[in-house]
Amino acid sequence: MSTFHGGEFLLNEGGAVMAPEFFSPEQRALFETAMRFSREQVLPKAARIEAKDFGLLRELLREAGELGLLGVDVPEAYGGLGLDKTTSLLVAEAKSLLGSWSVTFAAQTGIGTLPIVYFGTDAQKQQYLPSLASGEKVAAYALTEAGSGSDALGARTTARLSPDGRHWVLDGAKQYITNAGFADVFIVFAKIDGTRFSAFIVERSTPGLTVGPEEHKMGIRGSSTCPVILEDARVPVENLLGEPGRGHVIAFNILNLGRLKLGSGVLGSMKTQLASALTYVTLRRQFDTPLVRFGLTREKLARMAAAIYAVESMAYRTSGLIDAFGGDPLAALEEFAIEASLAKVVGSEALGQVMDDAVQLHGGAGYIEEYPVERAYRDARINRIFEGTNEINRLLVVGTLLKRAARGQLALFEAPTAQTPPLKALARLGLKLAAEAFGPSLDQHQVVTAALADLVLEAFVVDSVAARNRALAATRPLEPWRVAIEEHVASAAHQRAQQAASRVIAACATGEARAAHLASARALQVDFPGNPEQVIETIVIALEAARGYPS
Ligand SMILES: Cc1cc2nc3c(=O)[nH]c(=O)nc-3n(C[C@H](O)[C@H](O)[C@H](O)COP(=O)(O)OP(=O)(O)OC[C@H]3O[C@@H](n4cnc5c(N)ncnc54)[C@H](O)[C@@H]3O)c2cc1C
Repeated sequence: MSTFHGGEFLLNEGGAVMAPEFFSPEQRALFETAMRFSREQVLPKAARIEAKDFGLLRELLREAGELGLLGVDVPEAYGGLGLDKTTSLLVAEAKSLLGSWSVTFAAQTGIGTLPIVYFGTDAQKQQYLPSLASGEKVAAYALTEAGSGSDALGARTTARLSPDGRHWVLDGAKQYITNAGFADVFIVFAKIDGTRFSAFIVERSTPGLTVGPEEHKMGIRGSSTCPVILEDARVPVENLLGEPGRGHVIAFNILNLGRLKLGSGVLGSMKTQLASALTYVTLRRQFDTPLVRFGLTREKLARMAAAIYAVESMAYRTSGLIDAFGGDPLAALEEFAIEASLAKVVGSEALGQVMDDAVQLHGGAGYIEEYPVERAYRDARINRIFEGTNEINRLLVVGTLLKRAARGQLALFEAPTAQTPPLKALARLGLKLAAEAFGPSLDQHQVVTAALADLVLEAFVVDSVAARNRALAATRPLEPWRVAIEEHVASAAHQRAQQAASRVIAACATGEARAAHLASARALQVDFPGNPEQVIETIVIALEAARGYPS
């Protein structure tokens, strides 16, 4: 068991580092199985999936279940594989080659199944988990309502005990529910007697449950998203999930893993689009020259690769920390809630940037449906919205850090900063200033809070890439492209962090104090000596040699 704690990356270098280069043969084997499934069974059927062939989605879920891919987080005793979180993230990466399938799969294995894994009684687990892990049954998770999205606890759906005490009677309407069009089992959140927020396992056949029409979406069009209406829906009492009034614990804990898996779940799509963009710019010629020879093409390719390396380093580092933490899996997930939110925010924003670059590299073709990048661009956008919007996750990162510091769990302000790498020192300087300036009312200053989250985020990204490269360099000589990527990531992060720090300081201090803090921040500025064109060149040469992201 490791004693490295959540948020501690701002203070110390963290123990053993998990990264793709350190996956075990078993982890690699399941990843390969999942990748083969995506390439051979899912991608060739993309057109049918996009046309909402839900029968096909059910069939694919069953086939994925047969391969064990739906049961990575389900204990063996209930028909799953009961594997570590790093393997779970690897499967999430492999299933993400097609957005619609990725979301269907994530709702099934994550928010649909995990509430029962972590909070179900033995009888509930026996009843539901084997058929969810095999793909025989499909799950959905119904939290959001028309009036409560980010403010999930504001739900108005109610539950009351029937006079004979045998049923919970649910009334309300959920919206935007993934898989609802064909799911068999719904995890529904409702307030007992209008006050105690709780979770229920609700079967599709429940009298009083109806599923509304499919939404017409910007992307992930092959996935199902519908309203779910509950009118005097009678749910057997034994289908209450967890304790009454503790539904928020279920909702928030499940999101921790969902966010982390989203962090790796963007990688499959990013790597695929980098490879096809590279092929496109190699073949396409303008001005008698392949596009790939142009500096501005190479700049984008390098930026895409650097984003992938950063997300990979962050997501798998976090799953490794969770696996090493051991003990109660829920407690371990909660311990690393900050890192999970960071992985979600960085992953979804990196995905957006990579898709944008990929479309741009295709020129007009990138805007035409015939090219898969058009769909991938549309599919990417949802990732900044669900699993907690990126705004909400930024607020959570800072709120959780400061709460832990106030409880004495994290020595954010006390630990010396003399030997601290500059971005961590900058983040801690900003957090300290804001905590002193605003105290408990910091949550009323969202612009400052978001800038603080950005400081923490840049520190985490740079630290994760550096930790991975250090760990690798301890085993073998580091390839030049990895060194170049570290410099690429760090130089951009330092620039953004300096801007964020200036915003925080300007909002927290005036006059001489402001000038002094700005001087302290500037003293942490790092000038990167490398020639940016050479850095880009080193990265792109490696991409060309690997015909895509080198892995
Ligand atoms: C395709 C799709 C699939 C989905 N699948 C599911 C599912 O399976 N199950 C489920 O329960 N839900 C699902 N959702 C719902 C999703 O989780 C919500 O849409 C999301 O949480 C945001 O809620 P909202 O849409 O009500 O937006 P709002 O909460 O109204 O937010 C609108 C904007 O305001 C910002 N905002 C809100 N509150 C604050 C604040 N306090 N401070 C600053 N900014 C704020 C948000 O960040 C956002 O930018 C899905 C949605 C979509 C589109």
